This record gives sequence, C-alpha cells and structure tokens, in this order.
Amino acid sequence: WTEGTQTDAENSLTELAALAETAGSQVLEGLIQRRNRPDPATYIGRGKVDALGSVVLSAGADTVICDGELSPSQLRNLEQRTKVKVVDRTALILDIFAQHAKSKEGRAQVELAQLEYLLPRLRGWGETLSRQTGGSGRGGGAGGGVGVRGPGETKLETDRRRIRHRISRLRREIKAMRTVRETKRARRARNAVPAVAIAGYTNAGKSSLLNRLTGAGVLVEDALFATLDPTTRRASTADGRVYTLSDTVGFVRHLPHQIVEAFRSTLEEVAEADLIVHVVDGAHPDPQEQVRAVREVLGEVGADRLPELLVVNKIDAADEETLLRLKRLWPDAVFVSAHSGRGIDELHVAIERLLPRPAVEVRVVLP
Ligand code: GDP
Repeated sequence: WTEGTQTDAENSLTELAALAETAGSQVLEGLIQRRNRPDPATYIGRGKVDALGSVVLSAGADTVICDGELSPSQLRNLEQRTKVKVVDRTALILDIFAQHAKSKEGRAQVELAQLEYLLPRLRGWGETLSRQTGGSGRGGGAGGGVGVRGPGETKLETDRRRIRHRISRLRREIKAMRTVRETKRARRARNAVPAVAIAGYTNAGKSSLLNRLTGAGVLVEDALFATLDPTTRRASTADGRVYTLSDTVGFVRHLPHQIVEAFRSTLEEVAEADLIVHVVDGAHPDPQEQVRAVREVLGEVGADRLPELLVVNKIDAADEETLLRLKRLWPDAVFVSAHSGRGIDELHVAIERLLPRPAVEVRVVLP
C-alpha cells in the first residue's frame, strides 16, 4: 500500500531497498499494491497476502519488509500468513540508526527510540519470550529472575516496567549530555563564531561537502545513514572569517517519529544555526521530493525560519536537462560537485554573503 502516485511508490520502494541493503540484507523482490488505505488486519489486501506468500516461497526469502508502519496485529497476522519474519520501515530505520550511531549521545538516542517503538508492541514479544522461558504465570518463574518481579505481576508487566525505567533513565542521561553540548554552543556563541549547519536528504553528499569545505577527513560511505552523529568543524571563508560547519543527521522520507523525537536535541541544534546549507542530490530522480521532506523535518524543529542556502550537489552525475530545470526551479541555488570541486568557490562566496555580520566594536582611543 502506498500514498501518492505510482512513481512515488517506486521511488519509495527503491529507497526502501537501499535502506535494507544498508542494514545488510540482500533484496530479492519488490511488490507494490495500490489501495485507498491499508487493510486493518493485514496491511496489504488479504488476497495479496497469498501472492506475497508465493513470492516469498519462490524467491526463498526469509524476511518481508513493508514500506510503512505496521500495527502490532498487522505484523503478527502477516508473519503468521507468510511464515517469515516481517519488518516495517520504522524498525528497519531504527536498526540502521542503531548500527551507525557512534557517539554516546547518539547511541542513547537510538536506544530510546527503539524502546519507545517496542513498548506498545511488547505484547507479542512478551508472549514469545514467556513461551521460550517456559511460561511466566503469576508471581515468579523462569525469565526475569527471582525477586525482580513484584507480587502478582506477569512477565509482560515486568518487562514493561523495566523498559519504562530504562526509558526514563535514558531521557535523564540525554538531558545531561545535552546540557554539556549547550554549554559548548554558548561558548561558541560568546566568541561570536557563526554556525552553519549542513542539512539534506540522506546520501545527498553532506559529508563529502563538509570535507570539501573544511578539508577534514570525515567518513564518507555510499550507504544511507553514514551520518548520524553531528560533526562540527571549523571552516573559513575566502576572506578568512571563521565559522563552524556541522553535519546533521541524514533525513529520510517518513522518518519514524520516534527517531525525530529521540534526535530532537540534535535537530534542534540545527535550529540554532545562523545559516542552513541545504544539500540536494541533483542526480536523484526526484530532488524536489527530497527537498520537501527535509523542509518538513526542519519545520518540525523550528528551523524553517532560518536563512537557507540551497546547494545542488553531484552536478557531475546529473544530465544537462535536469540541471537546467533545477536552475529555473531554484534560481538562487548554488550548483556544485563535491567530487570534482566544481562550484565550490561560488559556494564559499555564497556562504560568506549569508553569514551574519558581526557587530564591529570600534574603540577610539584618544591620546
Ligand atoms: P551524506 O549521507 O549526505 O553525508 O552523503 P555522503 O557525503 O556520504 O555521500 C553519499 C554518496 O554520494 C557517496 O557515495 C559519495 O561518494 C557520493 N557523492 C557525494 N558527492 C558527490 C558528487 O559531487 N558527485 C558524485 N557523483 N557523487 C557524490
């Protein structure tokens, strides 16, 4: 089931396949169904479930990934009918974030998002778990350990309680780490160093551009989500003005709200920047949709009121016709190639023009 046109559905599915590969899966088959809305019980139409079952069987697949968020019961029903593991887009994205988060804060944020996703789905999970541990029953038994469970509490209740504890603990830790980051930011602000944030759709070339602009060796991967933890570097304009340049979380269509929530503090940092450099992949089949998706997330954290410099990247890989169309569409955008370096000088100039002018202190010392 998809929203929008057939092309939207295909692009979204192509991206889902890329996400799955990033997570380490091998993608065998794609299946699209047009419906007005998802089936409440099975997500795709009931008849389509049989077709899906045959595809799973003939392709020898061990997992089905759905391009949307499944309710706990849809997930269970689909698993029962197809006899393989079923994963939704949210779980897949959470999994990738978990694999890629490096900093302590990033890891805590992902864990929080995963637990929040898990909590309402715990019924199935709890059941399986209690079955595996030989039945829970009331007041004790295998699994959680003696003395962990309160009187009359089921295994499921214990699990839920533990997860809630962990969630509040993670929230506290993230808050503390955020305070540290805010102090650093305040120090930068006192020193009047303007801050530029690079935002853009996943794989648009944010890390590559950050490298180009600063000459720093940041990891660049041809994988979605190479960038999860914000990196801040110093850069300077042609006339020597220093500013900080931060790479942000990769944006993706239908970013799970748990992720947006968990990364809110990181995203909010974007909202405090003086300028947003919004990178778009000019060689992508639908750059406008990517721009729309990124602006939507920026809007959610209140970063849509900041000055934005649109940068169309990968012009070395885009065809002339597309570039002409994009130039008409976005007359103020700067066109670059982070790979070849084309347009980077213009980008330096454009950034410089848009940086806030510091208040100049003039002191006249009279003899
Ligand atoms: P990010 O996810 O936005 O940080 O994107 P990356 O900087 O990691 O780049 C994603 C992919 O696009 C990598 O394979 C890069 O090599 C590639 N890429 C980045 N800039 C360019 C460019 O100017 N031209 C081409 N052809 N590929 C690029």
